[in-house]
Amino acid sequence: MENIGKNLDAVRARIARAARAHGRDPDSVLLLAVAKKKSADDIRRAYRLGQRDFGENYLQEAQQKMRVLADLEIRWHFIGAIQSNKTRDIAEAFAWAHCIDRIKIAQRLSAQRPDELEPLEVCIQVNLDREESKAGIELEAVADLAAGVAELPRLRLRGLMAIPAPRADPDAQRAAFAQLREALETLQQRGLGCDTLSMGMTQDLEAAIAEGSTLVRVGTAIFGERN
Ligand SMILES: *Cc1c(COP(=O)(O)O)cnc(C)c1O
Repeated sequence: MENIGKNLDAVRARIARAARAHGRDPDSVLLLAVAKKKSADDIRRAYRLGQRDFGENYLQEAQQKMRVLADLEIRWHFIGAIQSNKTRDIAEAFAWAHCIDRIKIAQRLSAQRPDELEPLEVCIQVNLDREESKAGIELEAVADLAAGVAELPRLRLRGLMAIPAPRADPDAQRAAFAQLREALETLQQRGLGCDTLSMGMTQDLEAAIAEGSTLVRVGTAIFGERN
């Protein structure tokens, strides 16, 4: 059985060490605990240890856990691909959506976001390595989609998200994340009030923090291997 408390401490220490090594405040990096394929009990354990932001990739699985965990004040982040027929449920139940890559999906989320909730916080997903298997748009298309998303009344464009192809070499990891940071800086120069770089996972969170990540999405290092 995983020792989630010990794991969470270790991940927090990794984040703090990486932030300090680059002159950053450890509190400037939000830890998102990615719980796909893990139980509601695991989430509850992490919550008791102070974790509040949880990420889910699959809507049905997330909805089941939300029902069981309704007594907790969790901020739920949707980090999977979003199909048109899922937008209403996502707009109603999540605080964040990280994988926007089409204006049509963004428009639906905005139209379906309930009035009594804060605007949905969103990131645009960038496919840095142009991988067929991954969602996301190319870097060249970011500015146009960001301009469109920023106009939608019930969404708040927070920034950019990416899952670079795995690389063993830390310098190569950094080079990929640097591309996302530069794209965010371009949006900021255009007056879009973005503040979020959703990048870094179990294998590469140090490199992501070195390049300015403000939100690392960590599953395995907290909850253990997934089957
Ligand atoms: C599964 C997943 C993660 C977590 O990956 P780990 O390597 O287990 O830390 C992060 N982001 C996304 C989008 C994921 O699907």
